Amino acid sequence: MGCQKIIVTNACGHSMAVSYAFCGGNHLNNPDTNRACYDITRPIVSLKKIVRYAIGREFCGPACRALHQGWYCCTCNHLPVRGYLDQDNRMVVHQTCLGAVHALCTACLM
Ligand SMILES: [Zn+2]
Ligand SMILES: [Zn+2]
Ligand SMILES: [Zn+2]
Ligand SMILES: [Zn+2]
Repeated sequence: MGCQKIIVTNACGHSMAVSYAFCGGNHLNNPDTNRACYDITRPIVSLKKIVRYAIGREFCGPACRALHQGWYCCTCNHLPVRGYLDQDNRMVVHQTCLGAVHALCTACLM
């Protein structure tokens, strides 16, 4: 058996906290010993249990939220749009109806 690793993330999965669930075995129930127990019970890594929970609806920030849920673009009469992450400048952008690329700005609505 061994202790179980639990990863708790926010809605987008970018911020996470790791904890370990006590297996009830022959060691103390605290984060360090639970972690040690998880680490030594590793005959095959893929058999180890990792449980992931996404808690709540919190995103790390407006840009991340826009990326996942879309937003209302200020240059498109605030119609709902879906964007993508521009790889060069790391901004959330989308192609407007006029063919230009508009980055999420403070006039856009979430
Ligand atoms: Zn354990
Ligand atoms: Zn995020
Ligand atoms: Zn737009
Ligand atoms: Zn805008």
